[in-house]
Parts: sequence; C-alpha cells; structure tokens
Amino acid sequence: MLKPDSQIKGLYWYRGRREKVPATKNLVPGFKSYDERIIKVKGVEYRIWNPFRSKPAAALMKGFRNFPIKEGMTILYLGIASGTTASHFSDIIGKRGLIYGVDVSAVELKDLLKVATVRGNIAPILADASKPELYSSIVQEVDFVYCDIAQPNQTEIFLKNVELYLKERGFAAIAIKASSIDATAKPSIVFKGEKRKISRLMSIVEETNLDPYAKKHRLILSRLQ
Ligand code: SAM
Repeated sequence: MLKPDSQIKGLYWYRGRREKVPATKNLVPGFKSYDERIIKVKGVEYRIWNPFRSKPAAALMKGFRNFPIKEGMTILYLGIASGTTASHFSDIIGKRGLIYGVDVSAVELKDLLKVATVRGNIAPILADASKPELYSSIVQEVDFVYCDIAQPNQTEIFLKNVELYLKERGFAAIAIKASSIDATAKPSIVFKGEKRKISRLMSIVEETNLDPYAKKHRLILSRLQ
C-alpha cells in the first residue's frame, strides 16, 4: 500500500511487510539510480528511499517533519557522491528544479554523471566545497543547502556555502558524523559544539539522531534569519 505524505508533497509512504518506508515517484521511469527497490502502483513507478543508504530517509523514518524539499526548488548539495540521496531529491523537485551537486572525488562524479545525464535536473560540479568561491560562476542563489561531507571541518564548510549561496530565509541541513569531528568525544558533546556554530548564523528548526540507520550521526535543519 502506498500513501502520500500529509505534509511533504512528492513524498510517499510504502507499507511493506514489516514497516512503513519513504518512497518517491520515479522522475525517469525504467531507470534505477542505484540498487533501489522499485514498486509499481496503478502503472506508476515509485522508488523506495532506503534509510540505511540515505540520511534524509533515515531522518524521515525517525519522524523528522520539516524536510523543506519542494517541487521546482534549487538545491546546493555538498558531498553528492554518486547521487543516491540526490536522486530522491531530484524526484521531488522535478524537471523545474535543479541540484548543483558538488563533490571532490572524481570517482564518485563519474558515477553521478550517469544519473545526472538521465535525470536532467542535476548539475555535477567537481570541486572542493571548502572553496565555494571557485564555483561562483556556475552556482546561483539557492533555496536549500544540504551538506553531507564527513570532514572534521564540515560545519565550517557548510556555513561558508550557506553565506555565499543560500537565499534570505532559505533552509539548510547538515548530516553530522560525530567521529569525523572528534572520535574520542561523546557524540552528544560534538553535536552541541557544532550546533553552537550553526546558531551564530541560522536558527535551528529541527534535528534528529539517525541511529540505527547511520550510527552516531545527527541531521540538523536550520533557517537563515
Ligand atoms: N550524500 C551522499 C548520499 O547520501 O548519497 C553520500 C556522501 S558521502 C558520506 C561523503 C561525500 O563527501 C564523498 O563522496 C566525498 O568525496 C565528499 N567530500 C568529502 N569532502 C569533501 C569536500 N571538501 N568537498 C566536496 N566533497 C567532499
């Protein structure tokens, strides 16, 4: 059984044998973006959004309610890798939206290119997100910044990009991996420190730990004042 989400347009919930899982309508029917499960309902293809492979899906499973992705949106995605999560964002934003997908790894971008070529709403950018000024000739002001780069200075990198590219009152989310910042400290202490940095620029809207889907990770959504 498949039901639309009550708040987020373009998000669906599929009730499998064990639990409800998120799903998105496939923007490019007949094409898989990774090894996701495809289901067909009344001739329409939906892609199961795997919470063990994608942190926003994990957050949704944990009851996260304010995920700000909408049809037609522009997104700056830092650490897009081969496009697993981005492919679901791409389903939701549709043909009128655009994802600027930044990654420093040429190997990941090579795989992303296949997904981006078919989908048509992802612009891959091979770059280091810690130097956001280097892609200012490509990236325009965006509605949403999403960051998943698992680096010791991930919050600083995230904030630099927010300052340069996020529109006024825009939303931004970061998936923080505690061990990338300090493997010896308690994750709750690490998250508190990173939140303090984010709060200097934005207001925190919602946050959740991602266990058991991504251990010692926290997703934090904030909004530019
Ligand atoms: N967000 C992806 C998903 O859910 O499908 C997974 C991202 S993976 C955890 C982290 C990615 O961040 C890697 O592909 C890595 O190459 C990239 N990365 C790490 N440091 C970076 C940097 N400074 N600039 C851009 N990308 C970076």
